[in-house]
Amino acid sequence: MEIRSVRGMSDLFGGELHQWSHVEGKIKEIFKSFGYSEIRTPVLEKIEVFSGTVGDETDIVEKQMYRVVTDSETYVLRPEGTASFMRAVIEHRLNSSGQASRFFYYLPMFRHERPQKGRLRQFHQFGAELINDASPEADAELITVLDQIYKSFGISEYQVRVNSVGCNQCRNSYKETLKQFFKPKLQELCEQCQKRFDRAAMRILDCKRETCRDIAKSAPLITHCLCADCKAHHEKMKHCLTKANVTFEEDPYIVRGLDYYTRTAFEFTSNLLGAQDALGGGGRYDGLSARFGAESFPAVGFGLGMERLMIALQEKQLLPETASAPVFFFAPIGEKAFEILYPLSLRLKRHGIWCDMSYDKTKGLKWFLKQANRVNAKYSLLLGDEELKNNIAVLKDMKQGSQENIPLASLENELLRRAQHAP
Ligand SMILES: [Zn+2]
Ligand SMILES: [Zn+2]
Repeated sequence: MEIRSVRGMSDLFGGELHQWSHVEGKIKEIFKSFGYSEIRTPVLEKIEVFSGTVGDETDIVEKQMYRVVTDSETYVLRPEGTASFMRAVIEHRLNSSGQASRFFYYLPMFRHERPQKGRLRQFHQFGAELINDASPEADAELITVLDQIYKSFGISEYQVRVNSVGCNQCRNSYKETLKQFFKPKLQELCEQCQKRFDRAAMRILDCKRETCRDIAKSAPLITHCLCADCKAHHEKMKHCLTKANVTFEEDPYIVRGLDYYTRTAFEFTSNLLGAQDALGGGGRYDGLSARFGAESFPAVGFGLGMERLMIALQEKQLLPETASAPVFFFAPIGEKAFEILYPLSLRLKRHGIWCDMSYDKTKGLKWFLKQANRVNAKYSLLLGDEELKNNIAVLKDMKQGSQENIPLASLENELLRRAQHAP
């Protein structure tokens, strides 16, 4: 019986993996230029890292976490990045300097949900986190980084939506206002929103159901309920975005269900993704560290789904076409030619030059040229009895079709020289 991979978890290889590596590398370069350093946390965490911290009221903790149960402990496969990050920051006291510190991560996440386009059970996420800085400039920086990532790939079909969810003070009075608004309409809301009414009334604004959205349209907006400090923070943040050439729109319907979120919330959406239209998003969560029992420190961050980004890049045909190709393909005909080219190919490889060669000594010229074409080599190098007699090898430019004779005495230097000029 054939053993297949787990549903919702995919293998990556060949040309597709090459494209992923290309995209990953470029994103890491952007993080580097903005001063973010990488952090890696383990795949397994104690369940307490997520339940009682980021979770409680969200679907993630309720039903989507993969549990690993041993004799004495329950662990979970990391369902999202921020809680693991906070656990690591507090454990290693990475916040202790009191100075603004920037981190990014690129990690697989696991959620047991129905697999669909752009949503796998093992998915990959880039995340950025800036701690110890409560300023609106920090929020705008994070949004600028995310904007730069999509821009650098040539994607322009996305919207940057920003909102402020206020602080504990102004939000509490807003929640009351909102509850008073929804109370007489409770029966018309969907089942989930009825549940949300008591513990997370703001999330009703976030519901995707048509009926709930219609009702929410005339709900009072947080924009008008922000306290003076939150309002000033939000205005300054938007001012910074304008200065940073980020095109954005206000969306008062971006809400967070949990209390530790404060002030700036943002989402990047794109119609390139169809129904799953969120490319990435994030916000400020100054209250999260306190949930870990640590002294409170400000933090703002975002998450970017790689699978979603890859769909968008594919949709726009912005991915590199083929896998990289060898510079040389060696074609030795006969034992003696093989004895010369085999060590030469290894020496070139030590120089960092990809030089392909088959160790099958029974093949002839026709097969070699076919292989050189198949692997898309830039040059093929032919060495047979006739060439040996004349102390030369024949170098063929596979694209242009031109060929030249190179004296064996200077062969290595000539190949090195050409490899340096190869794209
Ligand atoms: Zn406030
Ligand atoms: Zn609803």
